[in-house]
Amino acid sequence: MNRDLRGYGKTYPVISWPNDAVIAVSLVVHFQEGAERTPLYGDNGPELSAQPVRPAGSGRSWSVESIYEYGPRRGFWRLMRIFDKHDVKATFFCSGQAVEGNPIAARRITDGGHEIAGHGYRWLPSYEFTRDAQRADIAKAVEAIVSTSGERPLGWNSRAPSVHTRELLVEEGGFLYDSDSYSDDLPFFAQVNDRRLLTIPHSHDTNDEKFWPGPLVPGFTRPDHFFASLKATFDDLYAEGSKHPKMMSVGLHLRLSGRPPRAAQVDRFIQYAKGFPGVWFARRVDIARWWLEHYGDL
Ligand SMILES: [Zn+2]
Repeated sequence: MNRDLRGYGKTYPVISWPNDAVIAVSLVVHFQEGAERTPLYGDNGPELSAQPVRPAGSGRSWSVESIYEYGPRRGFWRLMRIFDKHDVKATFFCSGQAVEGNPIAARRITDGGHEIAGHGYRWLPSYEFTRDAQRADIAKAVEAIVSTSGERPLGWNSRAPSVHTRELLVEEGGFLYDSDSYSDDLPFFAQVNDRRLLTIPHSHDTNDEKFWPGPLVPGFTRPDHFFASLKATFDDLYAEGSKHPKMMSVGLHLRLSGRPPRAAQVDRFIQYAKGFPGVWFARRVDIARWWLEHYGDL
């Protein structure tokens, strides 16, 4: 897998979105709880957590598991109410085992007109798999998502991709795009041997994972830190967008933004962005289809 350090370079394309929108805002909800690491599923330890609840050795951490369980139990429904209130559609990056654990939520995603995309069968870094094991994980994720939600995932995002991920997505077939890159403000095509795969870049900045105690410093400590980051990014991209329309990704997690004070910030941001003309709240699959139709040879 080669790196591309030039991208669109000096000739950054002036594209247009449907209805001449200035910015495409993609709300992305990561749905991985139930597929995370725990000895219950044969893993050699519990998921990482800064909470002082990790047992010594490789035992289960009931507390860490329950922190994750908050996501599908409560967070999912709170975020859904906010999306419904504003009539916006999101993309859900779902781990197969997570939606098998809560098929009612999986069906609610597709019944509500939201997009269901793939996020591994297990929520584990892909580089920990062999190539063959990763291929099997992708196939199993597709199967689980189809059987629980009734729809085939057309997009993909990994917990952490491996050097094989793009090739394996092309081999599996049926994917319109992947979101395993953080390298641009617009979609672009990545060369995968003799094929091209559309990339819809994601973001670690406008992402609530900065609430999670971990390596993403500086993190968010107050709920409104997330709103401030979303607003500042939106304002800049919106200003640039009057000449060069852009896209913005908002990363949400059920167990993080599904908590009351953070969910309120998501509500506040959607309300704020809806106050501007020319804002296209788009599912990633809609962005992908638009791009493939209009910019297939960029
Ligand atoms: Zn995720």
